[in-house]
Amino acid sequence: NLSDRLSRLVKTMRGQARITETNVADMMREVRMALLEADVALPVVRDFIARVKEKALGQEVVGSLNPGQVLVSIVHKELARTMGEGQQELHFPANPPMVILMAGLQGAGKTTTTAKLTRWLIEKKKKKVLTVSTDVYRPAAMDQLRTVTAQAGGECFPARPDQKPVDIALAALDQCRRQYFDVLIVDTAGRLAIDEALMAEIRDLHAAVRPTETLFVVDAMQGQDAMNTARAFKDVLPLTGIVLTKLDGDSRGGAALSVQQVTQTPIKFAGVSEKIDGLEAFDPDRHAGRVLGMGDIVSLVESVQQNVDVAAAQKLAAKVKSGESFDLNDFLSQLGQMKNMGGLSSLMDKLPAQLASKAGNLDMDKAERDVRRMEAVILSMTPLERTKPDLIKASRKRRIAAGAGVHVQEVNKLLKQFEQMRDMMKKMKGGGMMKMLKRMGG
Ligand code: GDP
Ligand code: MG
Repeated sequence: NLSDRLSRLVKTMRGQARITETNVADMMREVRMALLEADVALPVVRDFIARVKEKALGQEVVGSLNPGQVLVSIVHKELARTMGEGQQELHFPANPPMVILMAGLQGAGKTTTTAKLTRWLIEKKKKKVLTVSTDVYRPAAMDQLRTVTAQAGGECFPARPDQKPVDIALAALDQCRRQYFDVLIVDTAGRLAIDEALMAEIRDLHAAVRPTETLFVVDAMQGQDAMNTARAFKDVLPLTGIVLTKLDGDSRGGAALSVQQVTQTPIKFAGVSEKIDGLEAFDPDRHAGRVLGMGDIVSLVESVQQNVDVAAAQKLAAKVKSGESFDLNDFLSQLGQMKNMGGLSSLMDKLPAQLASKAGNLDMDKAERDVRRMEAVILSMTPLERTKPDLIKASRKRRIAAGAGVHVQEVNKLLKQFEQMRDMMKKMKGGGMMKMLKRMGG
């Protein structure tokens, strides 16, 4: 499983301090695989990898992150940024009616999306919507649009298959104006593959109705082919948006990246079910997670961002600087942060070399166990005891020890360590992690 491989790779990079040619190359190999498995077209994959590589090499690893986490985060961000490029809602013209032209291959989901959009425009935008089918080749297509438009609560222009597509569209536009509709959606015929006649027809339709929005509808399950289809349509039509359908299927949706890159057109909507309400605004962030492996990557990146509670650290620093008393809550939060940063052993990796060698003879496993025990002790204190440790006398110590499942000596030891820490905080005004490590080892 790919996201497992990515997670494992992130873990192996834990001991490394910097982003290097080597760990970037390792990461890019996995990302390339992820994108290809998600059916992103090969040239698009190459392009993307090259761009991310360049960004990654200039990046510093700061705070508690390791290079793997930083790299995953860069990949995810860049993928979301690329797929979300130029993103915008539908453009509503100052003077109605707004005309939307639907383009795409047969089976892509044009008719279904026309109905979904109708519903969306009526419910979300309070528009009066007319639809029209120009598919004169399949009478069933006209019936289909009539049925689904009614389900959506819109009106459907009564087209006849013996008319020409352009004439049908113009007649519908005329009715739209006379009856004060806000929006006309023109559903078109598709072919199973790109052909000249189809392209000529949609170009003529575009010239006749001069749409505000020309939406290219593409099936996310089309995979690699999506890029070529998109290019063919882009060559004849000034597309203004893409609708990616059938994202409820099990495809990883890599088509989103290919199609966006080839057309340089924003993805405006995602089709997420066959039903009339199955249309959503495209969410590049969430989709990037899916393309890289079903969202696991997103949670990996999120856990990175939550690793260090920045707010808590700043609060502590401010407290120390202002000379306020350092209490057991602060001590607890410091312990928690050491744990969040991937354990004490990983903290050691981040220390400058000469400090690390001094601390090198510490037993890290023991230190980690100690930290957990210290936390348990503080957690069995009352809030008052934590802010006023001087209150903690013999009987309270017995109660706390029993609560934490330790001997009373442990409570004494913790209080002593806390006092040392407090003295040190006063002297050092912040920081002090290193000395604390030494104390705990000794
Ligand atoms: P058209 O030929 O481009 O007009 O395509 P249709 O709108 O007739 O859709 C073709 C098939 O795809 C139909 O069976 C639709 O129900 C189905 N379909 C369209 N969009 C979606 C979607 O977002 N999710 C799912 N599951 N099916 C869809
Ligand atoms: Mg259709």
